Amino acid sequence: MKDPGKLYVKTFGCQMNVYDTEKIYAFLQDSYVPAASEEEADVIILNTCSIREKAEQKVYSLLGRFKPLKDVNPDLLIGVGGCVAQQEGERILSRSPAVDIVFGTHNVDEIPLLLAERIREGKRICRVKEDTGKVPAAGAPRAMGSAGPTSLLTIMKGCDNYCAYCVVPIVRGREVSRSAREILDEAGFLAGNGVREITLLGQNVNSYRDPVTGAGFVSLLESLELLSGIERIRFVTSHPKDFSPELARSMADLSKVCEHIHLPVQAGSDRVLKAMKRGYTSREYLEQVEFLRQLVPDVEFTTDIIVGFPGEEREDFEGTLDILKLVRYQNAFSFRFSPRPGTAAAEMEDCVDADVKRPWLPELQELQNSITAEKHRDMVGKEVEVLVEGVDKKKSGLIEGRTRTNYIVHFPGDAALTGRTVRVRITDSRTIHLVGEMVN
Ligand code: SF4
Repeated sequence: MKDPGKLYVKTFGCQMNVYDTEKIYAFLQDSYVPAASEEEADVIILNTCSIREKAEQKVYSLLGRFKPLKDVNPDLLIGVGGCVAQQEGERILSRSPAVDIVFGTHNVDEIPLLLAERIREGKRICRVKEDTGKVPAAGAPRAMGSAGPTSLLTIMKGCDNYCAYCVVPIVRGREVSRSAREILDEAGFLAGNGVREITLLGQNVNSYRDPVTGAGFVSLLESLELLSGIERIRFVTSHPKDFSPELARSMADLSKVCEHIHLPVQAGSDRVLKAMKRGYTSREYLEQVEFLRQLVPDVEFTTDIIVGFPGEEREDFEGTLDILKLVRYQNAFSFRFSPRPGTAAAEMEDCVDADVKRPWLPELQELQNSITAEKHRDMVGKEVEVLVEGVDKKKSGLIEGRTRTNYIVHFPGDAALTGRTVRVRITDSRTIHLVGEMVN
């Protein structure tokens, strides 16, 4: 029997792309094993993201870096998928002669066929489907590159919100939910293969609706709660406009649903939120935070923030700083606004000079870093439940895991504890993680 080839997938951007990468590994697992590096791969795939500016340039410059690999190994196959592929299509083939296959966000499940076709017929291929509105491909079999006790599980694709700055509805298409039956089957499969924690994935999980029964997201959580083997349930992303009191109550009532929520606020100024077409005010957002905190006192919040939206003035930006101080996020993923082609914000004029706005992002990040550091320090001395995910990736000789509230903890222990839930006392705090020791 022929030895399997080696596959290297480089992932950019959001968790949806991380999930697609898992699917690519899974779809190809009969023919390829994961490669440790690009240099040793027989197939390299770039799973691209166009949420941030200059994504295309980044992809083209990376592809330039791969060309010498192809000179050494002419059989090397290079594929480009994800949002940049969806938007650029054939242009990638004409600009990058080293690329063999371009496939869009709706073509991920075709990757084995595309590779086979490229090998068989020798022609370069671009396969970029428009959004068909079809339910996403059934969940991938457990990916070979992702063995571990945690797993992503996509419950829907696309988005109907058209926030003014966002390219997702353009590249990922309209919102379509998978059936609860299919999701439960996949969760059961994952549980049977050692997964203890699932993260339900969608651009706006709060608007999930079973296409067969019409049941909503809370009902899905209630069904998953009953699944044996799964100990923890997380979900991402929650849109504040669809975050209902019912969902808050279910977070309090369902024992497997973790005490953490990623609730992107994006801005603290109502004027900017309106221009962004987010559908809520800062006050409504803060009321949701307060409501959930009353029901789930330990809950931790993380968020996304865009700084320097067109027309955002210093006063608006200070509103965002106020939100940070009031909510005290565990972490905030903050970015400078960059216009994405095809979005409403790309056409908006900006009356505020870029030089004026430039210092705002570091200012906000400094504030958030100080809040994160304080929160980490406050954890010292506490005893927490940690699901062991494996050895610390920085190879410090420690093992690592996550608390239900989303803190990463490193502590001495045996890698054989991977997949087990242990009690850990926090002894120290670092910038990104906490340090602890197991208690009996
Ligand atoms: S909710 Fe808004 S920001 Fe999130 S994916 Fe949809 S359009 Fe983009």
